[in-house]
Amino acid sequence: MRYELHDGRILTWSLETHVVTHCNLRCVQCCPMSPHLPAWAVEPAVLGADLTRLARVLKPNIFKLTGGEPFLHPDLPAVLDAVRASGISEQLSVTTNGFLAQSAPDAVYERLDRMTLSVYSSAPLPEKSLARITERCARHDVLLTVKHIDAFQQLTPDAPLATDAEVRDVHARCWLKVRCHLVHRGHFYTCTRPPHVATVLGPSHPEMPALAEVDGVRLDAPELLERMLGHLERDTPLATCRYCLGASGPWQPHAQLPRAHG
Ligand code: SF4
Ligand code: SF4
Repeated sequence: MRYELHDGRILTWSLETHVVTHCNLRCVQCCPMSPHLPAWAVEPAVLGADLTRLARVLKPNIFKLTGGEPFLHPDLPAVLDAVRASGISEQLSVTTNGFLAQSAPDAVYERLDRMTLSVYSSAPLPEKSLARITERCARHDVLLTVKHIDAFQQLTPDAPLATDAEVRDVHARCWLKVRCHLVHRGHFYTCTRPPHVATVLGPSHPEMPALAEVDGVRLDAPELLERMLGHLERDTPLATCRYCLGASGPWQPHAQLPRAHG
């Protein structure tokens, strides 16, 4: 994959950040592994500092607030203000399961350009909630996209991939590395998996390298543009790909995990 530059910035499809790691749903095979992560919410000023660095070298078409469930963040307007002030992208979007979006303050809707609403067959959003969100998006000129999802692809393999050839094949066929770029805790990643696979699977895999470091680009070190281009245009798999199926996993009917106890 080769990337074009415009005014010294690398042009990309999109960039996202997980504003919280926790969620009010527990989807099986959740891509960012939310049901298995400790609760965490980004500090708006910290995210703003990361994005200000990144905006000097990267120009994504769209910036997405994802999670977890973003509407669980205690101050989403402040997060949106920090993103807007960084100049990272003209289009700010939020991706939500909708259960909390209907009652969010106007201050959130006023700061958004787009909303993607994922309606899961295993936890369907009531029609009246969908109607309320649709009405609020229309009133605030937010472009709403509704996705009905009844199946999930298995992303986490039952065991680490056994051979380098399997890892190379999974990486080569993976579209997430182009479409799901992530900024998280001072690093840029080409997909959403490295920091979360490290947290969730690391304790049971002592052989695992420090994925959050080895598969990311630090934003506070020199020559960021050169390091970003080198990382984006690499043909070799990430270390994380050994613990991931990317776009190669089998499809399963959508389902919820049982509620955690305690
Ligand atoms: S709603 Fe989204 S973030 Fe929450 S568990 Fe489901 S897939 Fe994960
Ligand atoms: S870890 Fe590798 S296979 Fe998994 S989503 Fe990222 S690039 Fe794709």
